[in-house]
Amino acid sequence: MNPFGSSDNVKIDGTPVRLPVTIGNPAALSPSPTFQKPIWMPDTEADSCLNCDLKFTQFRRKHHCRNCGKIFCSKCCLDKVPLPHFGINEPEKVCNNCKLIVELMNKAKSTEMDQKYEAVIGLSNMLKNTAGLSKVIECGGINTMLSIASAVASALHCLAQSMMLNEFLVETGCLKVLKKFLIF
Ligand SMILES: [Zn+2]
Ligand SMILES: [Zn+2]
Repeated sequence: MNPFGSSDNVKIDGTPVRLPVTIGNPAALSPSPTFQKPIWMPDTEADSCLNCDLKFTQFRRKHHCRNCGKIFCSKCCLDKVPLPHFGINEPEKVCNNCKLIVELMNKAKSTEMDQKYEAVIGLSNMLKNTAGLSKVIECGGINTMLSIASAVASALHCLAQSMMLNEFLVETGCLKVLKKFLIF
């Protein structure tokens, strides 16, 4: 079964991670899949901000992040970004953690190469620690990485097929690097 179409949780280092649920075509390689919006955490389930842990009061109000559905104080749920992975193109309020990853995912969709490059580097850095990995999975960042990877893979395929370039690739050492990518 395609894990991207499932609402089951997986556990990473014992912490449950919500898998994004794709609307429509569940293909993991879809370049811009639309996911179901998160279910908002009930107000009664949080007495304090899920990021900074400060207690909610009459003056410190609860704010729902439109990306993860969790509850934060105004300082930890500060900015607005578009959420195209939910089909929302207007900026919506998100928590500071979601902001980082959503911005990277949005950059990955940009036609500007330097934006795409920044997204790839940022996302792959996030995958190196458990908290970042969980967040990338929750936000559908795996689809983003795969869609970029498939574009790169088809470019590498064209390159490898070019007989004219064969000698050049060997001489410049590019072939060695290519092999590293293909044989993990
Ligand atoms: Zn807070
Ligand atoms: Zn969030």
